[in-house]
Amino acid sequence: MNGMGERIEQKIADKYKKMGCVAVVECYSMLLGEYSVVLANSQKLVVKLGNHTCTCRKWKMTGLPYHHALAIVAKANLWVYNFVCRMYKVDTKRHIYNLVVHPMETQDMATVDDRTIRVVEGNELDDNNNHYISPSCNERQSG
Ligand SMILES: [Zn+2]
Repeated sequence: MNGMGERIEQKIADKYKKMGCVAVVECYSMLLGEYSVVLANSQKLVVKLGNHTCTCRKWKMTGLPYHHALAIVAKANLWVYNFVCRMYKVDTKRHIYNLVVHPMETQDMATVDDRTIRVVEGNELDDNNNHYISPSCNERQSG
């Protein structure tokens, strides 16, 4: 299991199709994951796998390795999902949605006695469904 949803799988597959524009891949530092990529139009880009960056900046913007990085991933036979931003992982999404929204009870609802149909606790509403607000105890003195 790679932990990605179908849409992300499709996006990665689409980017793999474009990596033909990369003509040459050279490794500068295996330790730092630093590579240069020469495109078919002779433009040279620097890709740092460890930092998830590429000179074109698209990797940082989307969180998905662009075809420049994918050319390296394919050549070096690396696991592409190690280079996808954590936010795309199903586990992360599940975690986010589990944490955010919890049901809450209303605290100021009136409790109505079923037998007498009178409010016995909480705030009573007036005929227009507005809360009845008690007059302030500290009324200002006139003058
Ligand atoms: Zn790039």
